[in-house]
Amino acid sequence: MTEPPTPRRSRVSQRAADIPPSGIRKFFDLLASTEGVISLGVGEPDFTTPWHIREVAIDSIERGHTHYTSNLGTLELRRELSAYLERLYGVSYDPNTELLITTGVSEGLDLSLRAIIDPGDEVVSPEPSYVAYFPVVHMAGGKFVPVPTKMEDEFRVRPEEIERKLTDRSKGLLINNPSNPTGSVLDMTTAEGVADLAEKHDLIVLADEIYDRLVYEEDGHVFFAALTGMRDRTITLGGFSKAYAMTGWRVGYVAAPAEIIAAMTKVHQYTMMSAPTVSQEAAVEALRNGESDVQTMLEAYGQRRRLLVEGLRHIGLPCVDPGGAFYAFPSIAPTGMTSEEFAEKLLVEEKVAVVPGSVFGESGEGFVRCCYAASIEDLEEALERMGRFVSRHRKGT
Ligand code: PLP
Repeated sequence: MTEPPTPRRSRVSQRAADIPPSGIRKFFDLLASTEGVISLGVGEPDFTTPWHIREVAIDSIERGHTHYTSNLGTLELRRELSAYLERLYGVSYDPNTELLITTGVSEGLDLSLRAIIDPGDEVVSPEPSYVAYFPVVHMAGGKFVPVPTKMEDEFRVRPEEIERKLTDRSKGLLINNPSNPTGSVLDMTTAEGVADLAEKHDLIVLADEIYDRLVYEEDGHVFFAALTGMRDRTITLGGFSKAYAMTGWRVGYVAAPAEIIAAMTKVHQYTMMSAPTVSQEAAVEALRNGESDVQTMLEAYGQRRRLLVEGLRHIGLPCVDPGGAFYAFPSIAPTGMTSEEFAEKLLVEEKVAVVPGSVFGESGEGFVRCCYAASIEDLEEALERMGRFVSRHRKGT
């Protein structure tokens, strides 16, 4: 008699299996197979990296700068970054011990969680939240604890709501300011409330400030580490992708206390080694000579923001003023549809791509994310199509 076959062990780890497939991916696949689509879906600048930055990279390749750099990143870039953060936010970081150059904020996020989380530690974060947050916390062995925010609060987190979610396992507070997907920015009062909590409960603050240069409100950006007492417990995640239109270069940075940078560098040196050399040289040029590009793009996004937000309200979709980033997050309640239904039907019927709010967590249901890093012509055409769609599907009509 032959032995029954032993059941095969799953080839995929439980941790990987637990991660839901990206809700956005499905729409991109549908989008790729449909012609004539206007996409407000992808969260990246429609601008190409400014020419002087590309030129420096070309020169770097021509000079044969094709080797690894120090694990921390080039000293030139770390020095430039240190001066930039001091200039912009008045916080100084030692380029030798407190700055790490990463392959985008994506890597910085992953490294910082792997460096601070032990199995079962909890990371609290306002929701709707960036799609990668749950997976990276989970892959680091932590537990992601969402704190829902509401449209009537302009999607600003209430510190008392954070406090209600804290337990003796809470280790980190992951704050995205300005926020993807809502565009909400942290005002000073809320930020100070969050800082008090961090102090009181001894939490590490992971401040994902990748959109720090894209703020439209007069008060400007609140750099979390600049708040009283916060420099020592904040890991700032910053980058070049959004402000300098450099998504494809894969370069970003982490600014944090030396002890945390040292732990992150250990993980980084065995996984990534160093960020791309050419991209680091391009990043130096961006910091040195890219300020006017940042301002030009910010102005363009500002115009598009007004156009989109007013247009959405005009077609009957309530929308708060997004204070930063390049996303509007309108309510689709007037149609009575789920956000996935709305996004799918809008793509099929009117060829406009938006992202269902539900992919950003439960509290994103009832909303869609529209990225306005698109041309004025495309935004106008998208609004016209969405207007037709909404009047056709308005609840009760
Ligand atoms: N954090 C947030 C909130 C983002 O929106 C993104 C990209 O969309 C990232 C991090 C990743 O950025 P990077 O291109 O620097 O890896």
